[in-house]
Amino acid sequence: MGQDQTKQQIEKGLQLYQSNQTEKALQVWMRVLEKTTDPAGRFRVLGCLITAHSEMGRYKDMLKFAVVQIDTARELEDPDYLMESYLNLARSNEKLCEFQKTISYCKTCLNMQGTTVSLQLNGQVSLSMGNAFLGLSIFQKALECFEKALRYAHNNDDKMLECRVCCSLGSFYTLIKDYEKALFFPCKAAELVNDYGKGWSLKYRAMSQYHMAVAYRKLGHLADAMECCEESMKIALQHGDRPLQALCLLCFADIHRSRADIQTAFPRYDSSMSIMTEIGNRLGQIQVLLGVAKCWVIQKELDKALEGIEKAQELAEGLGNKLGLLKLHCLCEGIYRTKGQQRELRDHVVKFHECVEEMELYCGMCGESIGEKNNQLQALPCSHFFHLKCLQTNGTRGCPNCRRSSMKPGFV
Ligand SMILES: [Zn+2]
Ligand SMILES: [Zn+2]
Repeated sequence: MGQDQTKQQIEKGLQLYQSNQTEKALQVWMRVLEKTTDPAGRFRVLGCLITAHSEMGRYKDMLKFAVVQIDTARELEDPDYLMESYLNLARSNEKLCEFQKTISYCKTCLNMQGTTVSLQLNGQVSLSMGNAFLGLSIFQKALECFEKALRYAHNNDDKMLECRVCCSLGSFYTLIKDYEKALFFPCKAAELVNDYGKGWSLKYRAMSQYHMAVAYRKLGHLADAMECCEESMKIALQHGDRPLQALCLLCFADIHRSRADIQTAFPRYDSSMSIMTEIGNRLGQIQVLLGVAKCWVIQKELDKALEGIEKAQELAEGLGNKLGLLKLHCLCEGIYRTKGQQRELRDHVVKFHECVEEMELYCGMCGESIGEKNNQLQALPCSHFFHLKCLQTNGTRGCPNCRRSSMKPGFV
């Protein structure tokens, strides 16, 4: 298969893919991969296969194609191709929750001497790196990366990237419990979709709606949460977007749990868990197990709760997800207090505080914790973040954590 035919067949696959005939598109692309004699065409078709497998949640296949793509890029001896393929490798690892690897491949990307074309990828590299830091609960570094990604998006007028960063910022603020910001950023993403997204894939709309749903639930606006989550799920089902389906099911379950409707929550947690397991989203599995454990606690089935917590703890330790561990210790504390088991209770209190220390989850101004309850936060340009009220009453000294920057609020 020569250059022209390769190009034509890739295009044919794209059209099939865009009209939701995913399996047919994959067949066409796989044939190109097998038959083409054009290395640049091979590189492109691998890119298509990587994107498609990512969207379907087939992350292990995504990783396999990314590795082949790197070899192809080396053959082509083109720095732009090489950087793009390393970004794909980083992303595959991010999806598989291999956060340390993600960060190291992102650093490889950023150190590459590409041309201006590949410099435009820096924003996406920063986003992926930020997501990985978030998975490891290294919050300041995550925020630094998101801010960088946002700057690239603005400088290159890249609205799609901006939209994705806003969704990640939604996750960030959900985790450290500034629920106003957790809602603000996904709303901003939804606005971008409305204003610029006519030609975009619907997944951007679905993604922003999902993140809005999460924030609405945390704020206690359950009807709004339900509406956004339903909208997101509808698109996820139409597109066979398994990863998003799993997240929506988790969100539905959490909404029902918030309504104390445990019987409706359980089957949704189960469905979410089976997809999370199938696609290998271990971070998602921790969330599901946490939700289920909270349901058991509500039903006063403490031993069943502890069973799930143990599984979640193993996963969180494996991933290096410290915030997950913190939440689990917190839940255990309550359970052992109820059971009156003092020794276990003390163990978990100690471990809980170790997690807080490690994540530096306290405000450098008042010394109080961050992320324990809903609190308004503000980041400085150095990406250190504080209680908003502490910054407002603190005058104009430099950042109390690093002392290096002005007190002007950063824009995330
Ligand atoms: Zn404070
Ligand atoms: Zn600072």
